[in-house]
Amino acid sequence: MRIQSVRGMSDILPDQVGAWRYLEQIVQRIFSAYGLTQIRTPIVEDTELFARSIGNVTDIVEKEMYTFEDRSGDSLTLRPELTAGVVRAAIEHGLLHNQTQRLWYQGQAFRHERPQKGRYRQFHQIGVECFGIADALMDAELIEITDQIWKELGIRDCVTLQINSIGSTEARAKYRTALIDFLAAHKDQLDRDSLARLERSPLRVLDSKNDSTQALLRSAPSLMDYLTEADREHFDLLRRALKDADIGFAVNPLLVRGLDYYSRTVFEWTTEALGSQGTICGGGRYDGLVDHLGGKSTPGVGFALGMERVVLLMEALAVIPDTYRTQADVYLMPQKQACEEAIRKLARLLRQEFPSLRVLTHIGGGSLKSQLKRADKSGALFGLIIGQSELESGHIVCKPLRGGEQETLSEAGLLKRMSILRDS
Ligand code: ATP
Ligand code: MG
Repeated sequence: MRIQSVRGMSDILPDQVGAWRYLEQIVQRIFSAYGLTQIRTPIVEDTELFARSIGNVTDIVEKEMYTFEDRSGDSLTLRPELTAGVVRAAIEHGLLHNQTQRLWYQGQAFRHERPQKGRYRQFHQIGVECFGIADALMDAELIEITDQIWKELGIRDCVTLQINSIGSTEARAKYRTALIDFLAAHKDQLDRDSLARLERSPLRVLDSKNDSTQALLRSAPSLMDYLTEADREHFDLLRRALKDADIGFAVNPLLVRGLDYYSRTVFEWTTEALGSQGTICGGGRYDGLVDHLGGKSTPGVGFALGMERVVLLMEALAVIPDTYRTQADVYLMPQKQACEEAIRKLARLLRQEFPSLRVLTHIGGGSLKSQLKRADKSGALFGLIIGQSELESGHIVCKPLRGGEQETLSEAGLLKRMSILRDS
């Protein structure tokens, strides 16, 4: 029996990896343009970190974590998201003492969910966490970053932004009582999931995916009416900043998100193009989290995007440039054993002159026809051929593989030809 990959955990194969690299490059360039620096934390953390930060009464902690005992008997967990580890690291290394931090991360996360399109047991997130800034302009700037990502990827037309404010802890405590009263009076209309949530974490009923529960919630008391003056000002400033940045949004009063530690701003980007796994990015403010994890009280705000879902969307919209789908720009073909050395010398020259040019050399002989077949498969735009006569004259045959006339060029002529290729 052959050993298979673990259910819900995918390999990213060579012909898929271009899309990932394209996404990573665009995102990282934008992060750098906004002055963010990267942080890398371990994939495994103390189980207690997630129980405390995400909250015991969440789907993630109740049902989805990969928790195990290591050989020393410690309870460890594969991270189900990256925020908790980043906060832990920031506290542990004193990154929050009288400083602000604007950090980004990227990596695997693990959740034991039912695998389906857009939902996996190992998936990848890219995200940002900013510490030490309570101002709503920070929330707006993070949303602007995500907006910029969709624009540069070419998927902006297919995603929409929803925002909400879930207020401060005081506001939510008051709202909680009102919501419990309302839901308790309509218990007969709640499904089993919502009944359980009503007992343990009533605000999460707002997050219910059940249609009749959602219908009932339309007449429930609204969290908006319970916001404090300061909460309201924060939300007003956010909305104004988004309008100034020309970023369209809808306020969704039922948006609470799954995690427990958020305060004030929450937001989600969704798409209709991926079926029911339509949330590609979620974020919000978590002013209580650092304190909750044992650090000095520090405001925080962040977001995470699900890379698999973004890649699915990029593929559905065919926005990935061809160069990210192919292996090489030029494919070098020696026509005889005697030409091998000249070909390898030429390859070294091209790599030195054009460091970003992708130069693939044919190794292993064969007829010109079979070599050209390989050249075509590599995706290269040009085949460069040296045979006996070129060896003698010091020329190179340059054969455009995607249409165009074949030329015989001197080395200098070839370098000129390649520099035009790089510029176009
Ligand atoms: P969902 O409602 O789809 O379960 P979530 O609220 O659990 O999402 P977050 O914890 O906010 O998701 O994670 C941020 C992003 O990570 C999501 O918006 C989504 O794009 C992605 N994501 C979450 N869980 C998975 C998963 N199991 N497989 C693939 N991507 C995921
Ligand atoms: Mg989930």
